[in-house]
Amino acid sequence: MTKTVHAKVVIIGSGPAGYTAAIYAGRAGLRPLVLKGLEAGGQLMLTTDVENYPGFPEAISGPEMMERFQKQAERFGARVYQEDVTRLDLGGRPFRVESSERAFTADAVIVATGASARWLGIDSEQRLVNRGVSACATCDGALYGGSPVAVVGGGDTAMEEALFLTRFASRVTVIHRRDAFRASRIMAERVQRHPRIAILWDSVVEEVLDVARQEVTGVRVRNVKTGAVTELPVAALFVAIGHEPNTAMLQGQVELDAKGYVRTENTRTNVPGVFAAGDVQDATYRQAVTAAGSGCMAALEVVRYLEHHGIEPAGGVQRPR
Ligand code: NDP
Repeated sequence: MTKTVHAKVVIIGSGPAGYTAAIYAGRAGLRPLVLKGLEAGGQLMLTTDVENYPGFPEAISGPEMMERFQKQAERFGARVYQEDVTRLDLGGRPFRVESSERAFTADAVIVATGASARWLGIDSEQRLVNRGVSACATCDGALYGGSPVAVVGGGDTAMEEALFLTRFASRVTVIHRRDAFRASRIMAERVQRHPRIAILWDSVVEEVLDVARQEVTGVRVRNVKTGAVTELPVAALFVAIGHEPNTAMLQGQVELDAKGYVRTENTRTNVPGVFAAGDVQDATYRQAVTAAGSGCMAALEVVRYLEHHGIEPAGGVQRPR
């Protein structure tokens, strides 16, 4: 490991929240350090077209959007490392952040680690992950060209996955545990109107077949109203049932809510100098644009916090490089 480097602010995470925080902190002259993490770019890296981020009337792909965010942050002096944080100590001052390659001390930390896909939690699902069970249609959909596939979930993610999969699959079946989608109306209508998408309402996946063959051949589905159990032959199952906040390394260090999200007030956590932005502290909206907005707030809060503690930026507003 190289010697410890001190930064005024370390930003952990590189989705819309982390990069927006880096843009604002960079422009405030703070030379922020961004630890991108192994899921660099966050959930937008798994998204095809982003149609609801203002300013992109023709839509933009998630990965391209994140590349632009990163460039913009770097233009204002952000130093970006593609490393995961392995150790975080928010107990003393300065804070201490370690990755596999480096160690940092920091006057302020912004946590923007987002959330990760949730799994059904059944044994056969876990045993077939990456063998036909996936949480990312964008990543794996093309592998199942010409075959029937299924998507579990009733939110916007499930709708987006189902629509995307129609590019490859012969038929897409959406399996949802209730009789109405949670997704936004526009997405739900697109799914319901699509000629190659079928919907199994009131249904839950009981088992993914076939563990013995180490590949997905179908799913056993139970109708929760009638109790009827049926088998649906599919070559892949895409699980799209929401997300869990990435807060494992914060356990016992900052206050979390019952679902594990960081408790914040205007991005401030209960530890002075530690801020959180984006999905890691937002179980409600979880949009790219709201994440970006809270990243901006966190950086402005950091500036106020550092000023209050007499810590000056490197010298005036950072000029673009
Ligand atoms: P949501 O929490 O909105 O939806 C999760 C879905 O999975 C719900 O329908 C839920 O059912 C179902 N579900 C949860 N747990 C289980 C389980 N154990 N078994 C079976 N089904 C389960 O998550 P999303 O990831 O879909 O969306 C998160 C946020 O991101 C939302 O705000 C959404 O609007 C946004 N988003 C927007 C997009 C866009 O606009 N292009 C694209 C993707 C996401 P139930 O309804 O019964 O609770």
